[in-house]
Amino acid sequence: MNIILFGPPGCGKGTQAKFVEKRYGIVQLSTGDMLRGEIKKESNLGLKAKNLIDDGKLVPDEIIIDIISKRIDKDDCKNGVIFDGFPRTISQALALDKLLDKKKIILDKVIEIRVDEEILLSRIEKRANETVNKRSDDNSEILIKRLEIYKQDTKPLIPFYQKQGKLVTVDGMKKENEVFNEIELLLN
Ligand code: AMP
Repeated sequence: MNIILFGPPGCGKGTQAKFVEKRYGIVQLSTGDMLRGEIKKESNLGLKAKNLIDDGKLVPDEIIIDIISKRIDKDDCKNGVIFDGFPRTISQALALDKLLDKKKIILDKVIEIRVDEEILLSRIEKRANETVNKRSDDNSEILIKRLEIYKQDTKPLIPFYQKQGKLVTVDGMKKENEVFNEIELLLN
C-alpha cells in the first residue's frame, strides 16, 4: 500500500505517519526529515537546503524529486510507503505520477488531514514555544509563512488528487488517536 499524507504545517502529519508506519508496516518517507538529515551531515545538498528551510521556503522541486526517487528504490520500501510532506507543489505531484508509473507503483490514497486554520495558528504558536526538540524553522513567524506557502503552492493538490479519485479527508481537529481511527477506517 502506498499513500500520501497531506495537510498544512502543524496538522499532525508526522504523528499520523508514525502510527500508519507501525500499524501497516510501510515506511514513512518524510522529505523534511531527509533534508534535516542532509543538513546534519553538512552535505552539499544540506548546505543548499538549510537557508531555505530556516526561512520557511520550499526547497527546489528537482532536489526533492531526486531524493525521493533514490529513496524509493531502497529495499525497505517494497511493502509500501507513506509520503509525508511530499508532494508539496503541482510540479512535484506530476513528477511523482511519472516516477510511480515508471516503477509500476500504484498510489492508493491521498489522505488530507483537514484542520481549522485559525486554530492551527494557535497550535503553531504552541509548538513554536516548546523547547524540547525545537526545530530551527519552528518559530511562529516562519510557521505563519509556511502556512501561506501551503495555501498558495500545496493546496492546489486537493483538486489535483480529487480528479484522480484518490483524495480522502479526515478531521485533524480530533484527538490523535481519533484521527488515526478515521485513517484506519479509510485504509482497511
Ligand atoms: P516538514 O518537515 O515536512 O515540515 O518540512 C520542513 C521544510 O523542509 C519545509 O518547510 C521546506 O523548506 C522543506 N521541505 C520538506 N519537504 C519539501 C518538499 N516536498 N518540497 C519542498 N520543500 C520541502
